[in-house]
Amino acid sequence: MFKFLKELPKVELHAHLNGSLNTNSLRDLAEKVYGNTSEEFSQLCARFVDFEKDSNLDKCFEKFAFVHELTSTAEGLQYATELVIRDFANDNIQYLELRTTPKANNNYLRRDYLRIVLDTIKKGREKYPNILVKLLPSINRSEPVAVAEETVALAVEFAKTDPDLVVGIDLSGNPAQGKFTDFSGALNLARKEGLKLVIHCAEIDNTSEIKEMLAFGMSRCGHGTYLSSEDIAHMKAADIPIECCLTSNVKSGTVSSFEEHHLKQLMEADAPKVVCTDDSGVFDTTLTNELLLVAETFNLTRDHCIDLTMEAVKHSFANDEERQQMALKVEHYVNSLKSE
Ligand code: 5GP
Repeated sequence: MFKFLKELPKVELHAHLNGSLNTNSLRDLAEKVYGNTSEEFSQLCARFVDFEKDSNLDKCFEKFAFVHELTSTAEGLQYATELVIRDFANDNIQYLELRTTPKANNNYLRRDYLRIVLDTIKKGREKYPNILVKLLPSINRSEPVAVAEETVALAVEFAKTDPDLVVGIDLSGNPAQGKFTDFSGALNLARKEGLKLVIHCAEIDNTSEIKEMLAFGMSRCGHGTYLSSEDIAHMKAADIPIECCLTSNVKSGTVSSFEEHHLKQLMEADAPKVVCTDDSGVFDTTLTNELLLVAETFNLTRDHCIDLTMEAVKHSFANDEERQQMALKVEHYVNSLKSE
């Protein structure tokens, strides 16, 4: 099964740039930023090992802050983006929707941040021709609304020049912080301008916010851990897929075990769902591993895994032609196995 899943041309729809740097890539990046003999480099490596000891949602957000130090220069950000694309390409991801929160510091403005990431994605097309990458700028709900407004304005502007590259807006960040309704104006503007919305929703148990988010609407739902059966029926009727990230949810402690993951409920309800990594670096996983985990936990066959991949093709923000190409790649792969 591992070989079958590894070679399957997969589709990743929920991946945060700074969370997708695996330990090797972080080492490469730290070496590039600080040099491998520096004191900063040894200290960074020691801190990273420390993060592995225990994990909960807050600890994960500390880990993001740590990675952000390494991508706080233009060179670091550019190299990190390249490494992330490389790692997904090596896992045979044929289509990747990458999200990232534009940041501003002494080295770059939010506009520069997006420009660097976009330029690196474009340059990566030559080096990694088998992976098609799109970008969704993220709004961090723990930052001020003005920052969200700036992010949307930039996303709209960049989408005008690169409509096939900048395809949507993500709402993420610590779910215990910020108030959803404060961001609905900015999100609405993005939607009016034709951007798709992916919203981290029902990640923690907050019934009133879940109601507000579902009433507001979205193209895809991040995590959906605390959706009720009625909410799931709503998602099914509206054809809104739930992005399921098993390792992330269990390691960050929002779901108690793989067996109890809500993906089971979604499959039983025949509700739309996609399997994703979330933060393959922070949670030390790959999409191959996530699909294997799902197959082993819920006794899925190869055909089920193909169906899950085709569901991801359907719910991607690729254009019709790109989606057709993606489906064809999966079909060719399946046919090549039959003729073996
Ligand atoms: P970045 O946007 O810096 O490229 O990726 C890391 C950021 O994505 C984190 O700082 C956080 O704001 C967001 N993020 C990553 N994983 C999760 C998650 O599982 N839940 C939520 N709510 N936000 C996340």
